Amino acid sequence: AGPGSRDYVALEARYGARNYHPIPVVVERARDCLVWDVEGREYIDMMGAYSAVSHGHLHPRLVAAAQRQLEKVAVTSRAYYGSTLGPFLAKLCSLAGFDRALPMNTGAEAVETAIKCARRWGYRVKGIPEGQAEILVARGNFHGRTSTIVGFSSEPEYRAGFGPFAPGFRHFDFGDMRSIEATATPQTCAVLVEPIQGEAGVVLPPPGFFAALRQWCTANHVLLIDDEVQAGLGRTGKWFAFEHEGIRPDALILGKALGGGLLPVSAFLADDEVMQVFDPGSHGSTFGGNALAAAVALEGLRVLEEEKLVERAAQLGPYLMRKLQDVQREAAPLIRDVRGRGLWVGVEVDPAHASARRLVERLAERGVLSKETHETVIRFAPPLTITPALIDRAVDAFRSVALQR
Ligand code: PMP
Repeated sequence: AGPGSRDYVALEARYGARNYHPIPVVVERARDCLVWDVEGREYIDMMGAYSAVSHGHLHPRLVAAAQRQLEKVAVTSRAYYGSTLGPFLAKLCSLAGFDRALPMNTGAEAVETAIKCARRWGYRVKGIPEGQAEILVARGNFHGRTSTIVGFSSEPEYRAGFGPFAPGFRHFDFGDMRSIEATATPQTCAVLVEPIQGEAGVVLPPPGFFAALRQWCTANHVLLIDDEVQAGLGRTGKWFAFEHEGIRPDALILGKALGGGLLPVSAFLADDEVMQVFDPGSHGSTFGGNALAAAVALEGLRVLEEEKLVERAAQLGPYLMRKLQDVQREAAPLIRDVRGRGLWVGVEVDPAHASARRLVERLAERGVLSKETHETVIRFAPPLTITPALIDRAVDAFRSVALQR
């Protein structure tokens, strides 16, 4: 027999940096919502690569789009125009309702793009003295792992030993308008915020917070920058999570699912008044907007639209949530809270009764992949192509794990 799961785990443990703590499942193949390990064991993917696999693994239309593009050209850099980038940007702008989009690769890069844009806008449009612009960010935020971004994390684990960090960020309490007002200064150029705090454990904003924040930003000439890297593109049951709040941000950050589960594709979107601060030479990325990525991302947007995957998240999300709430009742007092929006659910366990990590590992033994967050929350973000039958199977496995602890 060839190498088995243990061998691959050992290789990563020997040659990889130790910056992750994976569940001991070695995924070798995947198709739609199912994955298989090296020994051929089947798992339901209830994690969807943190919302990057919203179309299901290896969606046939996306694979076909990639294959077609691979007959033509994959990468040229932005030194030239291409025949896939323009159509992708046009589709993205029309779906999201912004004038322009700037393509990058990872979520963190698109967030960095937003930070640069917001500061320049602060100097050139708002008139903040150069070098003094400040951006408000929420406590509990997660926007990526670059040193600028972890510099304004409130999580010691992400920051310890990595300083010095970039100045120019101030913290407010997520969901608290008074905290925004108390934190802002005349140098505030932007509020950078997730519509739902994913990595913090699927933390929803209180009703009305975003409407009030929108009003405050407009009144104070401050950009509202919405990081929907995890929340966007149907995850919450609407195309964009800001739609639940009845607002429109000044700028939008997308990533993860934008690459159709095949490639890293991210984007920063804004209207002319904001995006015009970027002029030739001011920003870029060798791979951002490459021909292959743009072809796949465009097809990914069409698939979301034509297969009505956003509507599907809106229908099946409450179904998943109700079933998990049933387990909450049956396994009381193990589970403190079941919360979420669309196909994005966090199950918070009481640490006095169980460890989320242990539950996630035992769930994997029963053929369901999920992920713990911050020791107490188990996160479910399956592909939007998930079916009621697979949800039933996944929740049944979760029920047995929860009851047998
Ligand atoms: N923003 C948000 C809201 C995220 O959830 C993440 C990733 N979890 C990022 C940014 C960073 O994305 P990436 O890992 O692609 O850099």
